[in-house]
Amino acid sequence: MKTILRKTLLYKSGVEYADFCINHVEGCAHGCTFPCYAMMMKIRCGVIKNYKEWLRPKIVANALELLDKEIPRYKHKIKFVHLCFSTDPFMYKYPEVADLTLKIIERLNRDNIRCVVLTKGIYPKVLVNTKKYGENNEYGITIVSLDERFKKRFEPYSAPYKDRIKLLKYLHEKGLKTWISMEPYPTPNLVKQDLRKILKEVSFVDKIIFGKLNYNVESTQSGYTGEFYQGCVNIVIESCRKNDIEYHIKYGTQKKDNRKTEKIFVKNIFENLNLKYTKQSTLSL
Ligand code: SF4
Repeated sequence: MKTILRKTLLYKSGVEYADFCINHVEGCAHGCTFPCYAMMMKIRCGVIKNYKEWLRPKIVANALELLDKEIPRYKHKIKFVHLCFSTDPFMYKYPEVADLTLKIIERLNRDNIRCVVLTKGIYPKVLVNTKKYGENNEYGITIVSLDERFKKRFEPYSAPYKDRIKLLKYLHEKGLKTWISMEPYPTPNLVKQDLRKILKEVSFVDKIIFGKLNYNVESTQSGYTGEFYQGCVNIVIESCRKNDIEYHIKYGTQKKDNRKTEKIFVKNIFENLNLKYTKQSTLSL
């Protein structure tokens, strides 16, 4: 795998539910064609030339050295670190990416910094070793369909849906916190599917974030407007309430945004400090 060097790594994200973020790979072999917003931005800024170049990821070789410098500088400001918004931390069939991601999670956890992780790949089972990786991380996968034909067209080189879910369920069964990013949810002209079925399949998770599809011409021109997404939002909320799942609906997806739920990954002060309440209400590290 090719490598690059960066000057900085940790940055404050503008995504509504995020805090700090890390992207330790340039490009992403999953090659999503929704399209991928990160790829569009990199092309617009002249960082990469085209889709073909985006598909050949380059790892940030000095990521851990940068973290050693940046953690002391930002530690007091960080509520959690999101991996990743502009690449995939467990890129399917890229063990070098997974290895570096595991080292980054371990490094952050060592300083009591929680990680909120999102992938269209497969989680390695070693994450259940909470002595090494901590127990307060939140592990998520993107699931917007269960239809592999849809995946082939829109997320061509990512992991099969069933394998993603299987490993997430494994982490859940071992006591780790799990979540689903159901974004960008496709309009019916792109795939005919039952949202309730998808929600049922992932009803074991702790949190769900739901958002509409943007920047897709076929979808925009299809005539599926706010009504379609409002209907989806109602189904998501109903299912989350029934299954005791926390949720956040991305801004612009429903008629009236709910700003109260955007801090879905922010913990109370005691959890942030990695402290636990015992039954006797005493605190222990
Ligand atoms: S997984 Fe994410 S970063 Fe990778 S191509 Fe798809 S949308 Fe882009």
